[in-house]
Order: sequence, then C-alpha cells, then structure tokens
Amino acid sequence: TTQERLPRFRAAVRELVSYRPEKPALSPEGRSYALAANETPFGPLPEVARAIQEQTEGINRYPDNTGQALTAEIAERFGVDPDGIALGCGSVGVAQQLITAVAEPGDEVLYAWPSFEAYPLLTRLAGAVPVAVPLRDNAHDLATMAEHFTDRTRLVFVCNPNNPTGTVVGRAELEEFLGRVPPGCLVVLDEAYHEYVRDKAVPDGLSLVPGRPHLVVLRTFSKAYGLAGLRIGYAAGHPEVIGTLRKAYLPYSAGSLAQAAAIAALRSGDEVARRTGVVTAERTRLAAALDAHGWRPAASEANFLWLPLGERATVFGAHCATAGVSVRAVAGAGVRVTVGLPSDNDAFLAAAASFPSA
Ligand code: PMP
Repeated sequence: TTQERLPRFRAAVRELVSYRPEKPALSPEGRSYALAANETPFGPLPEVARAIQEQTEGINRYPDNTGQALTAEIAERFGVDPDGIALGCGSVGVAQQLITAVAEPGDEVLYAWPSFEAYPLLTRLAGAVPVAVPLRDNAHDLATMAEHFTDRTRLVFVCNPNNPTGTVVGRAELEEFLGRVPPGCLVVLDEAYHEYVRDKAVPDGLSLVPGRPHLVVLRTFSKAYGLAGLRIGYAAGHPEVIGTLRKAYLPYSAGSLAQAAAIAALRSGDEVARRTGVVTAERTRLAAALDAHGWRPAASEANFLWLPLGERATVFGAHCATAGVSVRAVAGAGVRVTVGLPSDNDAFLAAAASFPSA
C-alpha cells in the first residue's frame, strides 16, 4: 500500500511546521498593502534590470561557482578581503551552510527569541538543539545569553537589528559578548537590515571581523538592495573560516542572474541610499504617529516596526488583513509591520486607528 511505501523521514523533520508566509490580504475594495515581509517598496533599480537583461543570454550555462566578480565587488566596496567572502542562496542559504559546517547532531545553537524564524528551523534541520533566550524589553539580552553557553554551544545568532523587533545591540555590548564566547563557538551576526541603521552606537559588523575568527557577518541583497526574488546573500569572516565554509557550499546555489544583479545593485549605491532614506524617514513618521495614539512601538533601526501587543497580536493582524494590509503577527507576542511608501503606511495607520482597542 501507499502507506507502507512512504519513505521514513527523520523525526526532526516530521515535527517541523512548514514556513508558510500567509497569502496577501485584500480589502473589500480590492486594495492590498504588502507590509508583512520587510521587502523594499521600490521596483527594480534601473542598473539591475539592465544587468539581468544582459545576463539572460547565458542562462543555459552554469553560474560562476566561485562568484568571483561579485565577491571582488563586495570586497572593494566594503574594504574587506575577497577570501573572506562566501556567497549563498539568500543569507538564509549561507546560514544553513554555516550550521551544517559547525554543528554535529546534539550540539547547541543559541539565539534570542523572538528573532528570525529560520534560526530554529535551520537548527532542527541540522539535528542540533535550539536554545532560545527571551528578549528583554524587546531587545537582545546578551548577558543572559552568555549564561547559556555550554561545552556544546557551537553557534550563536545575533540579529542586529533584530527581526521582528527592530531593536539593536551597540558596539561596546557586542564586543564584550564576543569576548565571552567559549572556544570553538561561532558567532553569526545577522545584519540583514544593516542599511537601515541610523544609530551611531551600532557597529558595522564588517569592522569587527579583523582579529575575531569566531565572528561571521551575514548580509543580504534581499532587503535594501531590493533583490528578494533573486535569492542572493553572503557571509564575511576570517579567510580561514570562510575557506572551510566554502566546502559546505551547495554547488551553483548563487545563480548567474542573481550574481549579476547584485553587482549592479552595489554599483547603484547612491540610489539605494536615497531609497533607504525615504524608508527611514517614514519609519520616524510612522513610529511617532503610532506613539501618539498609544501603540508604543519598540525603538526600531530596521525597515519595520514592532508593536508588542501580546495576546492581542493575532486579532490585530486579522483586523489589518480586513483592510487589505498584510502584516506579520507573532501569536502571543506582537505584530511586525514593514515600513513602506507613505501611502502604504497611511493605510496601516488607518487600520490601526479603526482597531477596537481592548
Ligand atoms: N536574516 C534576517 C534577520 C531576515 O529577516 C531575513 C529575511 N526575512 C533573512 C536573514 C533572510 O534573507 P534572505 O535569505 O532573503 O537573504
């Protein structure tokens, strides 16, 4: 029978809940505001569209598996060693390579919670043990995280700014934490939203890498650079660490259109900066408007705001959906809303204003 022929999956996989972003909300008038996935509201950068067009001719060929041109571009742009850069299928792809490379079954992976949902997923997929340390006041509690180090801790994620709260860890605090990490353990500083940071106390993770082989920084082209649909991200770290990480690279997982687009996006720096400027200005406006109405959003340095609604999170998310506004509700914790264009944010503010406060 079919039942008898079903392959046997690992228990760790059977117990997973699929990562299934909800389908876009639609208002009765057919309007839809995509504020659930922290994407940029802007369309393709002109240089990117051109680069993809040019690259299309070669798609019968495999991409450059070493990602040489993009790696060189990143290295030059950010003043880092090209041997210290590893590409991947989105930064989530790079994160999976990292876990696969360092964690044996039963090893521990430490992270704050709530944070990026892929951390527990990747940890369980690797057969490793997730250790989630609650946020304090919506932010990383690095002192308590450090108390959870054991001789099986192999990897620590620090998401800066943190998804879903947008809160940040400052340079002094982070440097102290890095000094307390036990031997053999890797710290992955996930800077997916780095381009939206305006707080001067927040370090550029790339500047922390020299002299710290136990630190790897994750960056992505999915957010500020607007390439979420192409799946390209990278890790930056000590050349010896990155050299070993590259052995865990899934062949050709950074596609040729993605590589070409990422180079063009890096070369469109001024326009990217202008766009992130629009979003950070809107972040300030949206936060102030929410605050004035008693919503108390967490202090955010990312392109989203977090409303710590606790038990009201799910109903609030459903209420926004009826107005065509898609947000991310984390049951029992809060709601994350992406900062979009002024019209998107106004639609969200209107939805919030019509929420029957309980
Ligand atoms: N890190 C964080 C903190 C994120 O929020 C996301 C996307 N939601 C990612 C990594 C993954 O991004 P990508 O795989 O598209 O690079």
